[in-house]
Amino acid sequence: MPSVPVMRRAFAEKDPSFDGLFVVAVRTTGVFCRPVCRARPPRPENVEFFPTPAAAARQGYRPCKLCRPADVAAAAAPSPAVELLVRLIQSCAPDRVTSDDLATAGVDPSTARRQFRRHFGMTFAAYQRARRLADAVGEARAGGGAVAAQMAAGFESASGFRAAARRAVGAVSAADLRSATVLASARILTPVGPMLAIVGEAGVAVCDFEDRAGLAAAVDRARVRLAPSGRPAMIVRGDHPLLSRVAAELAEYFAGRRRAFDVPLAVGGTDFQRRAWDYLRGIPYGQTRSYGRQAADVGSPKAVRAVGRANGSNFVSILIPCHRVVAGDGTLAGYGGGLARKRWLLDHERRVAAGAEA
Ligand SMILES: [Zn+2]
Repeated sequence: MPSVPVMRRAFAEKDPSFDGLFVVAVRTTGVFCRPVCRARPPRPENVEFFPTPAAAARQGYRPCKLCRPADVAAAAAPSPAVELLVRLIQSCAPDRVTSDDLATAGVDPSTARRQFRRHFGMTFAAYQRARRLADAVGEARAGGGAVAAQMAAGFESASGFRAAARRAVGAVSAADLRSATVLASARILTPVGPMLAIVGEAGVAVCDFEDRAGLAAAVDRARVRLAPSGRPAMIVRGDHPLLSRVAAELAEYFAGRRRAFDVPLAVGGTDFQRRAWDYLRGIPYGQTRSYGRQAADVGSPKAVRAVGRANGSNFVSILIPCHRVVAGDGTLAGYGGGLARKRWLLDHERRVAAGAEA
């Protein structure tokens, strides 16, 4: 979060470039707002700041009906400046987009870069580098030689290009580049925090909370698993039909309009892990099962610890609903994304299921 004086000023000025970076909660009304809210401003001594709508909700605040801070679709939509940057990268390829280009296009470079970083979870420069290498892989696949690939990637020198390609995909020749695998990733904003999604052609490989322990190692495993060439796949932020689908299905889930997920998964796993994960996908929405029952149903009543480990090694949260498995006495037990999220997800599903029956 920005510093409190910065947030106070941003809120007073309704600065849209801070929208999504924090929410403002008002003690006297019990309501929280986006920084851009048009409602009558509260007295400064009555406000407190939270990084996310979920954090404010956990403290008992309700979302404002005017500015709708918990609206996932609004929070996940890129700002006009971010959309412009993505278009600029596409139209300028293979050249780099400079601060002058941004100024010419009429956006303030530092605001645009800050919003870009917030939306994609990476810097504008890093995004451009990754895009250029992905273009090089495409060019090499299309039959171009090393020089064509280098040009497609916008590198002036062959040595600079080779070094970047080696770092990104371990590629040293045009043939290496042709056989490189590119996975696409996106940051998906949800009411319980940002998630990182990574997809290959076969399906969703990773979709989990950005702050989850072990996520980096899970991503590295996916890069190896989904790369038939034997060299780890490179991951590029950007567009992919499966990314749009997983984002849309998650938005529907959080809006209470979706109970099961249809987007294909590419999760690998041992036979036992796959049985455990298939079982999780069979637990009805809004219900829970105990680890003991899951172990018995998966094949061995003694495998309670093993199913716990298998559930814990699931890095496609929510889509594979390991949050629906709880301890035998009904307590929540563990969850990779943290117990507060597990409680939130189960409450959400029970509320939606109860509402549908009422
Ligand atoms: Zn408001």
